[in-house]
Amino acid sequence: MKKIILTGDRPTGKLHLGHFVGSLGRRVELQNSGEYDKIFIMIADAQALTDNADNPDKVRENIIEVALDYLSCGIDPEKSTIFIQSYVAELTELAFYYMNLVTVQRLQRNPTVKAEIQLRGFAEHGEGDDNQQRKGTPVGFFTYPISQASDITAFRATVVPVGEDQEPMIEQTREIVHKFNSVYGDTLVEPQIMLPSNAACLRLPGTDGKAKMSKSLGNCIYLSDSADDVKKKVMSMYTDPDHLRVEDPGKVEGNTVFTYLDAFSRPEHFEKYLPDYENLDALKAHYRRGGLGDVKVKRFLIAVLEELLQPIRERRKHYEQHIEEVYEILRRGSDEARATAAETLADVRRAMRINYLEDRELIERQAAEYRK
Ligand code: ATP
Ligand code: MG
Repeated sequence: MKKIILTGDRPTGKLHLGHFVGSLGRRVELQNSGEYDKIFIMIADAQALTDNADNPDKVRENIIEVALDYLSCGIDPEKSTIFIQSYVAELTELAFYYMNLVTVQRLQRNPTVKAEIQLRGFAEHGEGDDNQQRKGTPVGFFTYPISQASDITAFRATVVPVGEDQEPMIEQTREIVHKFNSVYGDTLVEPQIMLPSNAACLRLPGTDGKAKMSKSLGNCIYLSDSADDVKKKVMSMYTDPDHLRVEDPGKVEGNTVFTYLDAFSRPEHFEKYLPDYENLDALKAHYRRGGLGDVKVKRFLIAVLEELLQPIRERRKHYEQHIEEVYEILRRGSDEARATAAETLADVRRAMRINYLEDRELIERQAAEYRK
């Protein structure tokens, strides 16, 4: 069986460090490993519209930002196919059929959807409403796990590299694949989730110490932030609120600066920027004992992040001067993605026996019956 990857991001803003450690950095590694037959990377505009129906301009403006972030991180359009979700109409049709294989009750149990409904305030009372009226959850938003299942299966993806929040989505996809194959015969490929191997990367916290770095929470370090912005953001980052004086013992657990070091620092960074310490464990031990100030640790983190971000920033500058070419990359990728999804859709229609016009057996049998 071929090894195929599908992943993507919502074009609701520029990409940040959470995207990088959760999935984007991994995609670049997988792309360059040469172990995969095909890598599809999707800019999920249709999904972004499910909770931005009133703001299509936000989505429209951010397609290019996400594409620029991909290219500047090292996604190579010669090796990976970057495409725009809404330009592959087959995905919508697949989702429509899969909807019949999933219950409302099953969707209601999805923990990520539940959390996001809360986060977006869909469950709260609407403005100016007197009694029980709620803002309400858009049906498209509620059903986006099904749409994700069609994205994944359309490309026969075997592996989906994503952050921890996506686990329930991949589980939902696997259930749809089982159900489809058992009802209509073996057609769809069951995907495996690929989570970050480093625990700090499963769900990178925000600079404010909140559980997740997320565009909607405004606690992000963006891949395109200037060196100055990165410095400011790190310097004001959440640490241990009880670590007031340098000589006080400090806590490393739940201390965002250390979580980021868990995620980004490597032993060679110590040799280069902080040779007094052999490794991260030695630095943590000193912090716990007391006598190590936040500023020193933050300066080190800035150096570590700059090593990652500086080349990304440079490559971005290049692509920013070639916007028309980037759109051409998206056009070519979308055409290619569409051809692949069309093959799967044809298989699906055949399996579901709704390929009437291509089905000679059906037409000839009915003709014969009427001739009798
Ligand atoms: P939005 O606020 O619009 O939902 P987002 O910042 O959550 O945006 P998504 O586009 O939903 O980003 O996520 C894209 C990919 O990045 C997913 O695979 C997701 O798991 C991963 N990801 C996003 N934020 C983080 C994070 N803080 N830590 C680890 N992975 C993350
Ligand atoms: Mg999200």
